Amino acid sequence: MTDAEELTLADEIVARARIHAREVVDEDELAVDLEALEWDVSERARRRAGLCRWDADREVATIVLARRAYDRYDWPEFAEIVRHELVHAWEFQRFGESGHGDRFRERAAALEAPRYCESFAEPRYVLRCRSTDCDWRAARHRASKPVKAPDRYRCGACGGSYEVEHADSGRTWTTASGYGGAKAALGDEW
Ligand SMILES: [Zn+2]
Ligand SMILES: [Zn+2]
Repeated sequence: MTDAEELTLADEIVARARIHAREVVDEDELAVDLEALEWDVSERARRRAGLCRWDADREVATIVLARRAYDRYDWPEFAEIVRHELVHAWEFQRFGESGHGDRFRERAAALEAPRYCESFAEPRYVLRCRSTDCDWRAARHRASKPVKAPDRYRCGACGGSYEVEHADSGRTWTTASGYGGAKAALGDEW
C-alpha cells in the first residue's frame, strides 16, 4: 500500500469517528468538549482497537483508533469502540483521570458502549458477498443470526446473497442447513 492510500484510509477513519462523536455527544449524557479532542489512527496496533491519551498540560484528550480494527469490524462494532473512547475522553476532560469504574460503566451503558476496551482478534466468521462485482465483507466474532442463517439475510452493500466462512477451518456455507452441517463436521474444532 502506498503512503497516499494509507493517508486516505486514516482520514476516512477519523472523519467517520468525528461524525459519530458529534451524533452521540450531548450536554446531558456525555458533554465531551470536541474542541479539546484530537484524533489519531494507529497503523501498528494489533491488539487494542482504541485508546484515549490525556495531555494534562494542554488539557487535550487524544483518541487513537486502530486501522486493523477498522478493517476487521463492521461499522456498528467499530462505532462502539469510538463511543467507549469518548467516555474516556469525557472522564479525562472532566476529572483529569479515567478508568473503567462505576462512573465509566454508567456512561458507557447510556451510550451502549462496551465497558472494557476491546482487544480485537481475528474474527471467528467472515461474511463475503457472492456477487462478482461486489467486495462487501464483514467480520463476526459470535455466531449471530446472519452467521447461522445467511439465506435469510442480504449483502450489506448490493443486497445479493453472501457466504459465511469459519475463519479457522476455511469452511463456508450459504444456508442455515449448511451452517449446521459445517458445525457438525468440525465437532471439537468448531
Ligand atoms: Zn477503556
Ligand atoms: Zn454485495
